[in-house]
Amino acid sequence: MPTRTGTPFSPVQLQCIDCQCTTAYSPLTRTCPQCGGEWLEAVYDFDRIGPVLPGLLGSRPFDLWRYEELLPVSRPALSMGEGGTPLIHAPNLGMMLGCQHIYFKDERQGPTSSFKDRQAAVGVAAMKEAGVTEAVLASTGNVAIAYSAYAARAGIKLWAFLTSLVPAEKMREVALYGTQVVKVTASYDQTRQVAAEFARQRGLFLESGSRSPASVEAMKTIAYEIAEQLTALLGPPDDAPMRTPNWYIQSVSGGLGPLGVQKGFSELQKMGLTGRMPAMAGIQVSGCAPMVQAWKQGQPTADPVTSPRTNIATLSTGNPGRTYTLLVERMAAGSGGTFESVSDDAAFRAMHILAKMEGISVEPATAVAVAGLIRLARSGQLKPSDVIVVNCSGHTVSIEGEVLGEGWARSLVLPSQPPSPAALPQEGLLAALSRVTAGRYPRVAIVDDMPDARRLIRRILQAQGDYTIFEAASGQEALELARRESPDLIILDLMMPEMDGFTVLDQLKADARTAHIPVIVVTAKDLTPEEKERLKGQIHSLLQKGEFMNDELFDEVRALIK
Ligand SMILES: *Cc1c(COP(=O)(O)O)cnc(C)c1O
Ligand SMILES: [Zn+2]
Repeated sequence: MPTRTGTPFSPVQLQCIDCQCTTAYSPLTRTCPQCGGEWLEAVYDFDRIGPVLPGLLGSRPFDLWRYEELLPVSRPALSMGEGGTPLIHAPNLGMMLGCQHIYFKDERQGPTSSFKDRQAAVGVAAMKEAGVTEAVLASTGNVAIAYSAYAARAGIKLWAFLTSLVPAEKMREVALYGTQVVKVTASYDQTRQVAAEFARQRGLFLESGSRSPASVEAMKTIAYEIAEQLTALLGPPDDAPMRTPNWYIQSVSGGLGPLGVQKGFSELQKMGLTGRMPAMAGIQVSGCAPMVQAWKQGQPTADPVTSPRTNIATLSTGNPGRTYTLLVERMAAGSGGTFESVSDDAAFRAMHILAKMEGISVEPATAVAVAGLIRLARSGQLKPSDVIVVNCSGHTVSIEGEVLGEGWARSLVLPSQPPSPAALPQEGLLAALSRVTAGRYPRVAIVDDMPDARRLIRRILQAQGDYTIFEAASGQEALELARRESPDLIILDLMMPEMDGFTVLDQLKADARTAHIPVIVVTAKDLTPEEKERLKGQIHSLLQKGEFMNDELFDEVRALIK
């Protein structure tokens, strides 16, 4: 086994988390030689690597192999530039949730569009180094896709056992790479058992997720990258060379991702490069939330969910086993955090909101993390100044139909058979084009002297439906606008210089042309009883700025304009 000859550091070791004994790293070592335990963890020469690491990183390409002193294999020939994904700021979502520092770690931009690319790149490189030629895995979809791509490059034959819940599009992608797909009509946990038994009987290498040191090592590079990227974006904190986020949020199935990311942040701290650990938030779907159930009941182990009820196959691990226990022990020892669940529906809504507000289209499993983010922000667990990183993956095609529903495209049929392409019948074309925009959308006027506040309300409405939106920056403008455009609804700020919202309201009601228009008041001010009295009967609802969220405002709007 090659052991990093040529680097000044001691070779990678495997340490048993139960008896602490160490042995030299090999991907073929699956159990502790001393106690037989199945949980081995890679350990490095942290004391010597830490001080020189920042200097080494400067000149290396931004992919996961830049951390090779902290990985069990060196940059392999099969690399496709995995890792090194962008950290994307989400200011619109941030404005909506009252948190200015929300970032998406954009794993969609990996070779097969999910963070499983890291696991597959390192895992397959390690297999190849160890001479493995045939391997087996079980997957809820994305692991199989990523491993298939890398196994194809490495010339390793792969057997992928997929639960029948995996969307057909994903199964076909797996097969395209030449992997033998075995579709198992059973839960993912049962599929995993079948795959393990198949590998045992045939004597084949089994990729074992959280129990595979190569996989955990691959995932920890997400943490290294986040620390580097946040330091570049926001500068180092006062007490350490590198910055960590306050929160790392990920949707969780088996828990390998958070386990690896937690190890990554803890190693940075061990090497003296960061000051503190981020809190971890693991988000599960409510139909398969063994970790959330255990967390809420304070149990150290999770009771398996035997029949997951979710359409989001990626997140259908019902039995997280020891991974949950390790996550919780490590959260207690330093990072803190929480587990939350959200419904499939909340995830689909979040998917649509994120795409419309930030231009980021994610797969349902990631949308679960976004719905979790919204939930944590609403419940006040995220502070406005917190730096929050959400892990984000792709693969949207199999689900878009469900999220968009009917009517997502307008069709344009041109009059048939023009005599020549140069002579398109102009009249027919114009008539057809006019039909594309013929629909009348509800007309909403937003009145606020703060441009940011107007922009936020506009984004919230546009993220959830089709509206014709007007804006007014003062009371005077609002009155003119209301008379000229006859909006179906006015969203009115109370505190404006010159003419305040109370006066606007009085004048609207005094004018027969505008008296009937419903008004929603949005205010940053705590109103006195007299002020509340003044609004009574004049408005439809009163929302407190900074406290209302997209769906509250949206529900009000929808109730007023059918
Ligand atoms: C695998 C996967 C998850 C679940 O991650 P674990 O770390 O295995 O719990 C969540 N989202 C996406 C997109 C995934 O591919
Ligand atoms: Zn041991």
